[in-house]
Amino acid sequence: EMKPIPLTLIVAATPSNAIGRNSSLPWRLSKEMAYFARMTKGEASALQQGTNAVIMGRKSWEGIPAKFRPLPERVNVVVSRQEGFDLGDAPRTHLASSLSSAVSLLRDLPPADSGSSASVGRTFLIGGAQLYNAALQEVATPAQSSSSAPYSVDRVLLTRLFTEYPDCDTFLHDFAADAGVDGKRAWRQASHGELRDWAGWDVPEGRQVEQDKMVKGEEKLVEYEFQMWVRQ
Ligand code: NDP
Repeated sequence: EMKPIPLTLIVAATPSNAIGRNSSLPWRLSKEMAYFARMTKGEASALQQGTNAVIMGRKSWEGIPAKFRPLPERVNVVVSRQEGFDLGDAPRTHLASSLSSAVSLLRDLPPADSGSSASVGRTFLIGGAQLYNAALQEVATPAQSSSSAPYSVDRVLLTRLFTEYPDCDTFLHDFAADAGVDGKRAWRQASHGELRDWAGWDVPEGRQVEQDKMVKGEEKLVEYEFQMWVRQ
C-alpha cells in the first residue's frame, strides 16, 4: 500500500465562496496572481525537491490564454474525460483521465520529465470548481473513498476576498463547514506563522487592498487575506 500523495488546493474565493463567472475569473488582482505563481513554483528555501506540479480541469486549462500556458516552471497536468484531448505540444504538460490518475502520473514521472534532477515536488490543485469540489468530497467521505484514492487533500491555500462579486456562477464547496459533519477530519485555519514557514518566504500578513483591473474606468478596491487551512 502506497502512502497517499499530499495535495494542496489553492483558490481565491469571495465571502459567499464564489470563484468564477462566465468561465473565467471575476476579478484581475495582479498581486494575488503573483502570490499564486510564487506559491505554486515554490521556493528553494522551503527545502523542497524537484519541480512542483499543478493539476487543473480542462476548462481551467482553456481559460489560460494560449501564450501563458503551460504555466512555466511547473509540471502541468490537465484532467479531462476526452481521450486524446489536444494540449498542443507544450513541454512538461500531461493529460490525465481523472484526479487519481493525474496523481499517479506525477508519482511515476521520470525525473527528467519534470525538468529537474529530482522527482516532482509539491503538487497543487489549481481548479476549477469541478475538480476542487470532487477533491474536497474525497475528504468529506473517508469511509467510501480515501483508502483507494492515491492522494489526500490536506491543505487549502485560500485567498479570502472580503469583497463580494454578484453574478458569479461558480462556487467552491464550503469546506470549513465540514468540521461539524466529521470531527476527525475537520479543517483548522493555520496561523500566519505556519503559512510563512510552509511557504518559505514572508507572505504578506493581514488585509491586503488592491485595485481590480478588470473594472475599467472606475476604482474598485478589493480587500483580501492570504489564509492557510489544514486538516486535523
Ligand atoms: P474545471 O476547470 O474544473 O474543468 C472541468 C472539466 O475538467 C470537465 O469538463 C472535465 O473535462 C474535466 N473534469 C472535471 N472533473 C473530472 C473528473 N473527475 N474526471 C475526469 N475529468 C474531469 O471547470 P469548472 O467549470 O468547474 O471551473 C471553471 C471556473 O472556475 C472558471 O470560472 C474559472 O475562472 C474558475 N476558477 C477559479 C479559480 C479561483 O481561484 N477563483 C481557480 C480556477 C478556476 P472534459 O469536459 O474535457 O471531460
